[in-house]
Amino acid sequence: MRILLVEDEPEMAAALATALRNYDMVVDHVPTLAEAEEAVSGEVHGAVLLDRQLPDGDGLALIPKLRARADGVPIIVLTARGELADRIAGLDRGADDYLAKPFAIEELLARLRAVLRRPAGLQPDVIRAGRLSFDFGHREASIDGVRLELPRRELLVLEMLLRRMSRTVLRATLEQAVYGFSDEIQSNALDTHVSRLRRKLAEANAAVEIRGIRGVGYLLKRQP
Ligand code: CA
Repeated sequence: MRILLVEDEPEMAAALATALRNYDMVVDHVPTLAEAEEAVSGEVHGAVLLDRQLPDGDGLALIPKLRARADGVPIIVLTARGELADRIAGLDRGADDYLAKPFAIEELLARLRAVLRRPAGLQPDVIRAGRLSFDFGHREASIDGVRLELPRRELLVLEMLLRRMSRTVLRATLEQAVYGFSDEIQSNALDTHVSRLRRKLAEANAAVEIRGIRGVGYLLKRQP
């Protein structure tokens, strides 16, 4: 899952980005409304954390643009303005949740799990394929109930392939899911992640296979 973090206070942004990365999320951080508008046009983020008081305007101005998209991307508004009227304004504009600063990181993570579970995302909590299951809320893969330890990028590749199971996922889509704006992507890095993941799934008898379509992308299927 790739998260867009729109926050202009550097310390706050750094703390949130670290917490989210520890939670195996890819974080793109932008400090202004203008950069946020640019960032959301790519539709690569699974959720948006949005500060209101930004140097170039009210973060709520981003919401109509996000809501014009068809994917129902969850939005959590983060702000120092905790007053009731401000909360209602945020929710009325189409935010999914509202968190008043200061808040505990654990609470943000719990709220994030909650909005990602909602039907707007049209995704079940857990997807099963073969003997593999993936819990999107806890971001864990397991084989017959035993947790499969995977590095962050392999977990992100697996997540994206499972969300689009049996369909080809384009290389660019996978790369966007795995790398943030500031990451450098080496040309064969994706293939390396996929081949390691494929080997681990085979070793664990997951009963799924990842097929490569040369130059196009990958798809994950149950083994027949
Ligand atoms: Ca701010």
